[in-house]
Amino acid sequence: MNLRPVDAPAVIPDNGRPANGPVVMKFGGTSCEDAAALTRLARIVADRGPEHPVVVVSAMAKVTDSLVELARLALAGDIATADAVIARLRERHLTALRELAGEALPAALAEAEAAVHGLLQDLSELVRGIAAVGELTDRTRDAMLSFGERLSPWLARLALESAGLRAQIVDARHVIVTDAQHTHAQPLYPESQRHADERLVPLIAAGVIPVLGGFIAATSQGVTSTFGRGGSDFSGAILGALLGARRIEIWTDVDGMLTADPRVCDGVRRIKVISFQEAAESAYFGAKVLHPSTLLPAMEKSIPVWVLNSRADMKILSGPPDGQLTGTLITTRAPRTRSPIKCISCKRKIAVIDVVSTRMLQAHGFLQAIWDVFARYECPVDMVSTSEVSVSLTVSDTRSLVEIVDELGRFAEVRYEGRKAIICLVGESLRNTPGVAAKVFSAMGDINLRMISQGASEINIGMVIEDDDVPRAMRQLHDRFLVDLDPAVFA
Ligand code: ASP
Ligand code: MG
Repeated sequence: MNLRPVDAPAVIPDNGRPANGPVVMKFGGTSCEDAAALTRLARIVADRGPEHPVVVVSAMAKVTDSLVELARLALAGDIATADAVIARLRERHLTALRELAGEALPAALAEAEAAVHGLLQDLSELVRGIAAVGELTDRTRDAMLSFGERLSPWLARLALESAGLRAQIVDARHVIVTDAQHTHAQPLYPESQRHADERLVPLIAAGVIPVLGGFIAATSQGVTSTFGRGGSDFSGAILGALLGARRIEIWTDVDGMLTADPRVCDGVRRIKVISFQEAAESAYFGAKVLHPSTLLPAMEKSIPVWVLNSRADMKILSGPPDGQLTGTLITTRAPRTRSPIKCISCKRKIAVIDVVSTRMLQAHGFLQAIWDVFARYECPVDMVSTSEVSVSLTVSDTRSLVEIVDELGRFAEVRYEGRKAIICLVGESLRNTPGVAAKVFSAMGDINLRMISQGASEINIGMVIEDDDVPRAMRQLHDRFLVDLDPAVFA
């Protein structure tokens, strides 16, 4: 099972730094998708000037998807199509650079252009190498996917310089050290701390803005690793923890965290303030705004995290945003609300597996044997419920489902069904509001509940239903629980 934030061991060393350090500002792919977005990025960063911003950027929007496609083409030996993809990447980066530099910065433009050409040359060689050996290890996949976040800092630096700011690129692979679990690496904090102290702290002290690519890091052997798709948020939080940041800002293209997914449900509202635990539970169960493990380092160091919209035509404040204008603040303590629930998230297109004991094994041996199978296939289990003779579990990664069911079938009866969804209600006040379950069940009406669970943290209630029932269930629950909301917490 995935490690949940609430269970995470304290692994970040105490760096003795008071939490009034820099502001770590992470910008997602759409916040640096073209020259216009990058110009907005620079304006936002300029406004944080006195607070010592540290900038972390994702790849330009869709670039990582192109790199995934490039890996596939390389494996298939289709060099011609791969070269066309690389040419488009080159054009897109060069166009943005030229627009950002205008006439004003010829030397900085020439340096950035040369860097882009050099990186894409390396990428093209990597593609040829993969095509030649006809094999793609996780380690090589990380090397491949790293290019987006190696390119984007050049764009961000030029944008910052065009806005008159002093910025310097720091290769994230020279700062964040990870283990060797390629494609889903974990940070090694003591080593990373040393690098952050050496490479970032002096720059910040000198009033220079460090610019780093998110998502990428390196093993202690210096081999490129990544945190998995969407991992730039995690990079931002790791750097925030290492630097004792006063605040971590996650700039994206939505107004913050919402009470539900607006594509599935009408009348959703923005959440102004939410606790780490609530945000983690809802991220884990499908809210797309944040990568689920993002909050771990911030939570451990009690660093407030703001989710903000870089597209919103908002007045950008100097100093901490006051929450009146935009965004969501994620913090250690969130105010209590009248409504026991703060948001409803859902994870769709999951499968439910029922494992029924054939009594060949003792109960404890039975559970152990089940976990061993899922662990061997590295398949995370999202929800579990057990009875005397059976265990039901849900998985969203169905790649190895057939193999898993086959192995489980050696010692138990197994059934599985797809097209299910988990709906999860999250709120700290759930813990001490009696009678919520009854209200939830009545709101669900005639919708069939396949599984129900309340997590150990007691701040979520999860239900498994048919995927087709999701829109109706969301609407009914939202109408019941998310009306008459406290203006201090909901926008
Ligand atoms: N560029 C990477 C991705 O698209 C990481 C990120 O954006 O967070 O998954
Ligand atoms: Mg992203």
